[in-house]
Amino acid sequence: MSKRFVYQIVGAFVLAIIIGLIFGERASYVQPLGDLFLNLIKFIIVPLILSTIIVGVTSAGDVKKLGRLGGKTISYYLVTSFAAISIGLVVAYIISPGTGLDVTVEEEASAPETQSVIDTILNIIPTNPIESLATGNILQIIFFAIFLGIGIKLVGEKARPVERFFEGLAEIMYKITGLVMKLVPIGIFGLLAPIVGEYGAAVLLPLIKLILAVLIACIIHAAVVYSIGVKSLGKLSPVQFFKGIFPAATVAFSTCSSSGTLPVTMKNTQENLGVSKDTSSFVLPLGATINMDGTAIYQGVAVVFIAQYFGESLSFAQILTVALIATLASIGTAGVPGAGMVMLTMVLAAVNLPLEGIALIAGVDRILDMMRTSVNVMGDASASVVVDASEKKHDAQAA
Ligand code: ASP
Repeated sequence: MSKRFVYQIVGAFVLAIIIGLIFGERASYVQPLGDLFLNLIKFIIVPLILSTIIVGVTSAGDVKKLGRLGGKTISYYLVTSFAAISIGLVVAYIISPGTGLDVTVEEEASAPETQSVIDTILNIIPTNPIESLATGNILQIIFFAIFLGIGIKLVGEKARPVERFFEGLAEIMYKITGLVMKLVPIGIFGLLAPIVGEYGAAVLLPLIKLILAVLIACIIHAAVVYSIGVKSLGKLSPVQFFKGIFPAATVAFSTCSSSGTLPVTMKNTQENLGVSKDTSSFVLPLGATINMDGTAIYQGVAVVFIAQYFGESLSFAQILTVALIATLASIGTAGVPGAGMVMLTMVLAAVNLPLEGIALIAGVDRILDMMRTSVNVMGDASASVVVDASEKKHDAQAA
């Protein structure tokens, strides 16, 4: 990543804030630039996930290695998500964002429907994989790709042309990602300026404590958990890690979508953090769908905020329930804008808090989404560093 590119990104940030503050809602004129970037990045996702996961599986060597990779990845994801929700809860209790507050409740934000855990799991199996591809159902695409990969391995020689086809497709998608990456600064500018213009200080002030609590918890989580993870398990300096993942974090910040950011996350981890293609193509698509540390933090803070606002106090057992359910809810959250707020209903319902609490948060959810999505993406990247290092060690020992 060149220095010039980083300057361009930072410049786009600063410019977006200035234009947003000066022009207010009229800053939405630059939205098409943001949409252009969003559409370009979205069009990469389905073929990228399909081809890279298939290649990830076929090049994993054997089913044993695949199981090992999956086991490590999911364990890391669970541990960091649990750490995230714990940090979120502690910070929220210290800052007490929901006390002494007077905000008007947004009328239209009613409680969205949630899915049960069993339905969520059953839905991972695509009854029609072509439909999953057409509608962009990421979890189903991952399932399909893993099975295609395993099938290719089991068939052997006769399936070689199919394997080579997907290898070629994966390379093509990486190349296209590289081209689209050049537009990151323009995309950030086009997405951020209208948001700054729309929110301005007036909307933010009443909920500033809530925003601060999420921000502080996000910073602590990233600085502590990921630094320890990449340093002790991945043998990578935290400074190098945060520098290397910076472009993906900014794209996550402005798009509020981990799935949308996936192409950039893959490129950054491979080129700036030295993660192998095998590992990143397996760990990252999975993470962009099931690993949401930022969302877990947000849910912890939001629950405490809503409880305090309605004058309810949570018992220790209820806090434990929140930690558990929020970890599950963050797994079930799709990597798209606003999904975390929908899943928040599940956590609120589990501890009998009023679902109308969602309406309190809805006004600033976009801002919270920016922060949590950046952490979500950094969490996935840290997992790829850690898992890759342990795989390399395993290979070195086996050799
Ligand atoms: N927007 C988040 C993401 O894509 C999910 C959420 O809303 O929490 O990672």
